[in-house]
Amino acid sequence: MYFNKNNKFYHGIMFHHFHDDGIHTKGQGSIDKDDFYKMINFIGRNNILDADVFFEKFRNNKLKENEVCITFDDAIKCQIDIALPVLEELKIKSFFFVYTSIFEGKPDNLEFFRYFRMNYFKNINEFYNNFYKVLDRDLKSFFEKNSNNIQKTKIKFPMYSIEDIKFRLVRDIFLTKVQYEETMFLMFKDKKFEYKDFSKKLFFQKRDLQTLNNLGHLIGLHSHNHPTLLEKLNYDEQKNEYEKNLSSISSILDKPKNEIRYMSHPCGSYNADTLEILKELGIELGFKQIMTIEQEKEMKKVNNSFLEIAREDHAKIYKRMN
Ligand SMILES: [Zn+2]
Repeated sequence: MYFNKNNKFYHGIMFHHFHDDGIHTKGQGSIDKDDFYKMINFIGRNNILDADVFFEKFRNNKLKENEVCITFDDAIKCQIDIALPVLEELKIKSFFFVYTSIFEGKPDNLEFFRYFRMNYFKNINEFYNNFYKVLDRDLKSFFEKNSNNIQKTKIKFPMYSIEDIKFRLVRDIFLTKVQYEETMFLMFKDKKFEYKDFSKKLFFQKRDLQTLNNLGHLIGLHSHNHPTLLEKLNYDEQKNEYEKNLSSISSILDKPKNEIRYMSHPCGSYNADTLEILKELGIELGFKQIMTIEQEKEMKKVNNSFLEIAREDHAKIYKRMN
């Protein structure tokens, strides 16, 4: 059964990517429509609350340990194309946490990078090798210096391979965002990938957000630009990220700001400043990415505060099912 000794507490289930036979190609961690049905069955339809019910019970301290909600991050179109019809059929209302620079024509290049990685290479390691070749830097001592860090990350995120973790370190620590993106755009050129043609197919449009809202799903914050490590930004930069995000959602949905009171931390990244800012913005429920206590954040329990509620990654549930 889904509810075992290890997760006897309420939480969210976190979904990102879905695939079909069309534009949404299969990739790392993506699931199809049938997997989604099976997963809902495995979790148990009765354990899944509508987002608004989950939120109200949460605020009133009434959630039971078997109760979960479904959450989607990143405003990616495959969620609308593949997951939404399933949700509507089963009458499940979910949380959608969206970053908003996409609605100003500035999507995070992350989705293009992902599409490129999945469609232009035989496998992920071929992509990594190609990336390091184009980057053309000596990474040996960087990896040596970070060997402890790599092992620690592997324990925290067992679904990542060592190569995945190394790549993320190079992307997030060794390189600046600009350097990383320059390398990726060089690779686009090499492979003649015209990424701008894919925007409408890969990301939510404003009307998608309005549709979700009209159907009764809850739209929440996920920062404006989706930085990979939000906790590295200073107080004012973080504040700007969430203020812009809130204003943008509020104006697209034509909904007062104080009615948007939920969020998820992009890439699970936050610090004490972030929590302070979210409190000031009136956020009453925040989700993180993982189901464990983070030592470095000095957490006392898994659901450490109302802005640090655990979520289980769908990939982990998928593994347990198979
Ligand atoms: Zn995200």
